[in-house]
Amino acid sequence: MSSAARLNVIIKDGGVLEMLARVRSAAFDKTGTLTQGKADVVDIHPASRSSSETLQLAAAAEQYSVHVFADPIVAAARAQQLELPDVTNADEVATNGVLAHLAGGAVVRVGKPAFIEEATGSIDRPELRAGETAVYVSVGDELAGTIILSDPIRPHAAGTISRLRGAGVAEIVMVTGDVAPTAESVAQTVGIQTVHAETTPQTKVEIVQAIRPRPVLMVGDGINDAPVLAAADIGIAMAGRGPPSRANRPQRSSPRTTSHAWQTSPMCRGAPCTSRCSRSGWASSSRWS
Ligand code: ADP
Ligand code: MG
Repeated sequence: MSSAARLNVIIKDGGVLEMLARVRSAAFDKTGTLTQGKADVVDIHPASRSSSETLQLAAAAEQYSVHVFADPIVAAARAQQLELPDVTNADEVATNGVLAHLAGGAVVRVGKPAFIEEATGSIDRPELRAGETAVYVSVGDELAGTIILSDPIRPHAAGTISRLRGAGVAEIVMVTGDVAPTAESVAQTVGIQTVHAETTPQTKVEIVQAIRPRPVLMVGDGINDAPVLAAADIGIAMAGRGPPSRANRPQRSSPRTTSHAWQTSPMCRGAPCTSRCSRSGWASSSRWS
């Protein structure tokens, strides 16, 4: 355990390692877990607004988000030296996106299609290449445009899945908040056959609780994953992101919809971590790569 700590792998106790050796099922989050979570904006499809206006609106809202897609969208707007409209308040809606009220009264949504369609009605979904994902932006009841991000798969992901199977992990599934086409493309590349897409923090918990055989391992990136990490027998949180690295972020208007692993566990702050939940709270931390 001390050797692991030198590699930034934090493990609460030996019981975690013993349980890890007996794991028979594993569930993986996608965004930021199987993918690197270091996305780049590669294209913008304008709709009712131009590409730069779409980016401006999205970046204004994403300043208030800790999602892995927030930084690249804000960075792309900065790179174009776009001035961001003032935001009066913003809320992250877990696994859906961000909803922001602009100073002029306009309401901006940034996130996945079902979340945008609540404001706009049915919208077109672009064809995506492997490794790409789409983030939709609405203003009022119109689709402003669609931002295409590339979020590459981690180079060791397929090898890790294959080694887990070799080690006797019989059931391996993906549980993701993302839409099915993007999820299935990543699953196919890494060798996962069972995909649960468009899940919420709550449905992730139900899916992982139902997985057999046990013990079950859950690997997540900490974004929206705290409940499901707690529901698994072993939780590995790859907390590479979060509030500690975003100290200058503007304040949110209301509490987060779900709590994140690094908030739940003081041990995880600022470090990649693995967590196993015990009755007394998060029991261990380390890193999966
Ligand atoms: P996963 O469960 O695979 O980690 P998430 O639940 O983090 O995925 O996100 C699922 C999808 O929700 C993303 O692919 C994205 O389309 C959308 N989404 C959620 N939050 C945001 C956000 N702040 N900005 C843009 N898109 C978001
Ligand atoms: Mg994730």
